[in-house]
Amino acid sequence: MDRARLDQLVKTFFVCNRRQISEIFDELLSAMEAEATLPPGGLMSRNYETAQANPEIHTLPGNLKDARDAVFPFFWGTDSWYSKLHLENVKGPPNFASLIGALACLLKNPNLCVDTYCLRSNELEVKAITALANLIFYHTDSPWGVFTMGGTISNLYGGKLGIEKVVPHAMRDGLAGHRVVGIVSGAAHYSNATLAGWLGIGTGNLHAIPTDRACAMRLDLLEETLHRLYRDGARVAFVMATFGTTDAFGIDDIAAMRAILERAAQQHGAVTPHLHVDAAAGWTVCFLTEYDTVANPLGIDPQTLPFIQQAQQRAAGIRHADSVTIDFHKMGWGHYPSSAFIVNRRQDLARLFRNVEDVPYFCEADYRHDPALFTLECSRPAIGPYTVMASLNGIGLQGYQLLVAHAIDMARVLKERIEQLDYCKVLNLETPGPTVVWWVLPHGRNAGEILARIESGALQAADCRRYFSEIQRLFEKREATLDLQRDARLTFTTAMGYTPHGIPLPAWKAVFYNPQTDESVIDRLISSIEELM
Ligand SMILES: *Cc1c(COP(=O)(O)O)cnc(C)c1O
Repeated sequence: MDRARLDQLVKTFFVCNRRQISEIFDELLSAMEAEATLPPGGLMSRNYETAQANPEIHTLPGNLKDARDAVFPFFWGTDSWYSKLHLENVKGPPNFASLIGALACLLKNPNLCVDTYCLRSNELEVKAITALANLIFYHTDSPWGVFTMGGTISNLYGGKLGIEKVVPHAMRDGLAGHRVVGIVSGAAHYSNATLAGWLGIGTGNLHAIPTDRACAMRLDLLEETLHRLYRDGARVAFVMATFGTTDAFGIDDIAAMRAILERAAQQHGAVTPHLHVDAAAGWTVCFLTEYDTVANPLGIDPQTLPFIQQAQQRAAGIRHADSVTIDFHKMGWGHYPSSAFIVNRRQDLARLFRNVEDVPYFCEADYRHDPALFTLECSRPAIGPYTVMASLNGIGLQGYQLLVAHAIDMARVLKERIEQLDYCKVLNLETPGPTVVWWVLPHGRNAGEILARIESGALQAADCRRYFSEIQRLFEKREATLDLQRDARLTFTTAMGYTPHGIPLPAWKAVFYNPQTDESVIDRLISSIEELM
């Protein structure tokens, strides 16, 4: 053993050299600053061609600058999402309080699996989960939960609890030949199909209920479907409500769903399905739950207040849920991964408990402090709790109210501006969120009339094809002529969630997740639509 080389290695990579680390960090920050002067998007073109051919590993030990150099081209080639022109997705820039939390976490690298691996970090998870639970359930006595790798995994926990409710001990015995089904909204996120596949009930056993024009699950069809499934002998494990659909921000009526589930299950002598709420995209409107819309202390535009009141009324439904998914890395403006799965009543999680004998190396484990006894994951990062508590206490409740209200306000302004154009039509006028989905048709077409004809059944899918291809072609035309310095980035969806007479509606889409996006961006967006003609 070459002791001198080992010592050198330890000194370089395992002893904290504050000056060098600060210097490199400063360089990375300078690169971000430089990036802010350039148009958003492709800072550097990709090179997948040789990514697999040349997977390099240096032969000789280097230093921290080698580490920097190994990643720098990819760092520089990655968009940081801080530009106010980004409207294309449910992805905002992370806030810098979250960065402080994330860096603190990375410096200690705690593992949340058991508290002997992370000491006080598990306490922080309990705090973060409880803070979020109080915000979303509003009245709850015994919430509990964990941070997961993302909304998909949080939803998977919800699905799993439902399966354990209708097929007790499925964890050990499997589905045991029972036909187990789940119900989702037709506008739900595809992660529900992912979990149905991965949990073994099968995507074919996931039943999607069409939505109304506000992209909320149709309650009459939910009730009908439940009765049909029960009559057919199926065990309905879960119903997933969506609080804020990804494209159009549709919000399901959770209180009404709860009443329907209990009634139907009782009539058929069945166990009430687990009611999970996928609020990955929509949960942040809960910051406004207690906002006084009469005194209006933050001076929110009076025209935006009805949306806030609607959001408040819908958010009150969440307390009827058994569990919720929230993605802090979306509109919490936090870092990945920080998604939380939260149950309203902690005893529900007992359905997932392992015996201490099943996890021999955690023999001293205690369920309250050692989530590894029930989590899907073994090792679990603490980024979630650190970014959440740093953000919540940096930005504060009123800070979040301002941010969320601003996003809703900008969406409202864009909706109004688009509605003034005959050849355009907003498809989610009623939903109180930060997203806008709409049509742009050629001059001379009456977009509102076309939508009305689809809704009345006068236009069949085949007749719609021409209009839909016009909508897409105009979107592509704008993409091709985008002025990178001035024009907002939008996206296109082939199905925004509402399907009148079974016809999926394509749409242009803008999402106001960036707090720096202002009316000047909207002015220019409207001009860019007018210039297309
Ligand atoms: C984004 C999203 C998900 C998936 O969350 P990830 O964190 O990306 O895994 C699930 N549901 C909804 C409604 C979403 O918007």
